[in-house]
This record gives sequence, structure tokens and C-alpha cells, in this order.
Amino acid sequence: MADSTELQARETIHAGGRWRAAVSGGTREIVDPADGLPFAVVAEGDEQDTDLAVAAARRAFDEGEWPHTPVAGRAALLRRVADLLVRDREKLGLLESRDAGKTVEEGRVDIDCVADAFRYFADLVAGEAPGRVVDAGSPDIHSVVVHEPVGVCAMITPWNYPLLQASWKIAPALAAGNTFVIKPSEITPLTTVALIDLLVEAGLPTGVANIVTGPGHTVGARLAEHPDVDLVSFTGGLISGTKVAQAAAVTVKKVALELGGKNPNVVFADACDTEEGFDTAVDQALNAAFIHSGQVCSAGGRLIIEESVRERFVAELARRAERIRLGRGTEEGVECGPLVSEQQRAKTENHVASALAEGAELRCGGKRPEPSPQRPESGYFYEPTVLDRCHREMKVVREEVFGPVLTVETFRTEDEAVALANDTEYGLAGAVWTADAGRARRVAGRLRHGTVWINDFHPYLPQAEWGGFGKSGVGRELGPAGLAEYRESKHVYQNLAPEPVRWFAG
Ligand code: NAD
Repeated sequence: MADSTELQARETIHAGGRWRAAVSGGTREIVDPADGLPFAVVAEGDEQDTDLAVAAARRAFDEGEWPHTPVAGRAALLRRVADLLVRDREKLGLLESRDAGKTVEEGRVDIDCVADAFRYFADLVAGEAPGRVVDAGSPDIHSVVVHEPVGVCAMITPWNYPLLQASWKIAPALAAGNTFVIKPSEITPLTTVALIDLLVEAGLPTGVANIVTGPGHTVGARLAEHPDVDLVSFTGGLISGTKVAQAAAVTVKKVALELGGKNPNVVFADACDTEEGFDTAVDQALNAAFIHSGQVCSAGGRLIIEESVRERFVAELARRAERIRLGRGTEEGVECGPLVSEQQRAKTENHVASALAEGAELRCGGKRPEPSPQRPESGYFYEPTVLDRCHREMKVVREEVFGPVLTVETFRTEDEAVALANDTEYGLAGAVWTADAGRARRVAGRLRHGTVWINDFHPYLPQAEWGGFGKSGVGRELGPAGLAEYRESKHVYQNLAPEPVRWFAG
């Protein structure tokens, strides 16, 4: 492939070990959200390209060496990929920043986390026993449960953490011995395209890793329904995720869904008893809601705070939110970049307008910033916004905004706090802030969310499962369960002393 950061690069489809343009010749411009200007061109694949990529992955699985490569060999390859990511950290971090609009520092951290995912799954498979011997109750029976790869995996990823979300699928899929076709978000495909080059450089056999750049309704939909795909792992919004699950059901594929969230950040007054505690809770509430301009599936967009500290807390939060430095993510010193697209900003603006119409009180933001050399008018910027006096009937409290918008609700009792925090159809992540260790554990135990932070927000560990309750998804990524998604269990029962059973008399 030519360098995908150059406008003329068009060969971004990789099928069967070859980079090529779309069969249709279609292309798409990739836009820098900081100024709305195109800076790269990729192939706009469709169903035909998808079929070619799936055929290549199928061949590599059915006839190739990868599924039978010993675990040590697979782990060594994943570690080489991690080393290559470290080598290319600066280049990839910058590319992610430009493509997704995140700050360059976030881009670099993303690449570190991607390398960590490859290392984690390498270590996990390398340290496993080859199978689990089952006691069949007889010395004449040898019974063992082994794990085998699922087969051809389709992966569909979103635009907010393009390479990170891809790595949470690719690393375990390869560790388990699968082949795959990935479809990155059509608006942020560049780092995933670059990763395929690294997999090839690391020595992955031909046909194991395939990518089709293109839209969801063609490439994504075809992957989900394709009869030669054995598993589809999707990260994205609820509506698209539902369509993927429906399409996959027709051929009874395995399905993993990582969907959205409406994540509560519950703050008890005692967390703010000391100046240090207050400062930390405010700082982390900002981080929870506004990092990557709120375009994070686990963004803490719902501040649920004890009534007695609301005014002081929200005043300080709004004061600090107003000072967040907005600008082009690739410039050092910028704290928040633009939203990823005009469409995403329009969605955010609609949410804020509807909240204000429903009676929310605007404490800061609620508009586009004044243009400046760091923030061209053509970029998709939006100010960090705090909406006070919100309640559970408001659309902005119920639906995922995926923009820099924080809503404030209040409670008086622990039960009320828990009821509010669980009052969502999602269940991805949530946090509780309190100085009372007993209450912290009690509340954490009652929250119906896949990740619960106590006196923290946002950290995840590759060793710990990530995923959601309710409509936040099906299945888990990361951790041992994140590897298990990409495996079939097989029970091998060997009779060492076979003899007739005489069930039938004749
Ligand atoms: P999206 O659902 O619009 O798109 C996600 C991916 O699905 C893209 O690659 C898109 O092209 C594809 N797609 C769209 N329609 C499809 C269809 N009919 N069939 C197959 N594929 C289709 O989501 P997005 O706007 O890119 O990402 C934002 C969403 O992702 C948010 O809801 C966010 O919460 C979620 N997300 C969740 C996690 C998590 O770990 N749970 C992580 C990141 C993002």
C-alpha cells in the first residue's frame, strides 16, 4: 500500500495478501475534523470487495498454516506486532489524532494501549494449559476439553478509538488462531490500514489478515450476513449493532456486540469533605465527561451528585470546563479536539437544544467556540457544556450524546443515587465517589454496569473484561473472556478399552 496519509493513496483494501483499489473504482476522501478538509483518499469498497476478502480469509483458515501454528509461534508474532507498534508510535499516534480529531497525546496513549493488548493476549495464550482433562470416572476413558479457533472472524469498528477497538478484536482473534476481515469506520480507517501492514511485516501468513474500507450499509452488512463468516464482532452504536445481530442470526454466527453507554458518575458529599477530595472529584468529573470531547463509549456524561454539594461542585466544574483549551488535536498543548464530523456536532447541538427546551439550565458552553487560528471555522468544534437541573425524563439524560455534554442530576439518599444510576437501558460503566469504604462497596455492588470505578473514572486493564449489561452489548472484550469469544470448545472423549454396549439386541 502507498502511504495512507497521502491524498493519492487509494489501495486500502487488503485481501489475500495484496493491496488493491475497490473493484468498483470507488474512493472516499478522509477529512480532518479540525478544518473539514480532506487529507487522504481511501478505497470505497462494497459487497464485491467484501466477498473477495472473506474468500481469502476462508482459504487461509481452511487450507493455511495459521490455525495450526503452535501457540508459541502465535504469541511470538503478537509480540513482534507490539514491538512494531512501539517503533511506529509517533507516526500512528499522529495519524489517529488527525483522523479522529483527538489530541496527539491521546493518540500516542492509544497506540501504547494497542501494543499492550497484543502483549496481553500473547502472554495469555502462551501461559495456558493446552486443554482441560475431565475426570470421566473410568481409567479406560481419556476425556479432554480443548479450544479451537472459531474460523473466519468479521470485525466492524467505530471511529472514536479506531485502532484501539480494532486491537481488542484482532489480538485475541489471532492469538486463538483465527483469520479475519476487518471493516473500520468509513470515516477513520487510516490507522487500521496501517496496522495490516505491520501484521504483514511481523510475518503473518498470507490471507490471515484482510481489510475492506467502506461503509456499514454495504461492507458491514455483507460481513454480518456472509455465509462464510463464522463470527462477527461489532463495536458501535445500538441501531447498527441491532442490525448486525439480526443479519448474523440468519446464518447462526457467533455474535459479540460492544455498544453504547449512558454512564453515571455518582458523587456523594463526603467525597468533597476535604479540599483535596473536592479538587479530585471535580477534576475527574471533567475527565469523565470531556476527554476526547465526550466521544467515548464510557464517557461519564451523567453527573449524579448529592444535593448538598451540588451548587459548589457544579460552579467549580463549569468554571474549569470553560477553560478547557479547544483546538486542532495535532497541536501540542490542546486539551480537546473537534468532534469527529459535522453530523456528530449537529447531533450534539440537537441534544443541547432539546435539553434547554425541556428546562435544563445552561452552566457553560452550549455553543460553537469563536473561530481562531487554532480552531478554524470549518472545523467541527463545540464547547464543553454543563447542563444543570436535569432529570430522567429528558432526552439528553436518556440517550447517548457522544459529545462534550455533561448533565447534572441530584439525589438525597443512597437508594435514590443507585436508582438514578441504574435508570438507563444501557449498562456499560459507572463510577461512585465517596470517602466511606463500606458505602463504596455497597453501591458498586448494586450498579448494573459492566465496569464500576470507585473513586476513579475511565481506567481499564487488558487483563479485566470490558463490556456491558443491558443494551450496552453482548459478550466481553479483553481478559480471558475476550479470548474465549474467539474460540470453540471441543470435547475429545477417547475410549481406551472399547466394547459393545448391547443397547440393541440384534
Ligand atoms: P456506528 O454504529 O454508526 O458505526 C460503527 C461501525 O458499524 C462502523 O464501522 C459502521 O460503518 C458500521 N455499520 C453501520 N451500519 C452498519 C450495518 N447496518 N451493518 C454493519 N455495519 C454497520 O457507530 P459509530 O458512530 O462509528 O461509533 C459510535 C458508537 O460506538 C457509540 O454508540 C459508542 O458508544 C459505541 N462504542 C462502544 C464501545 C464499547 O466498547 N462498548 C467502544 C467504542 C464505541
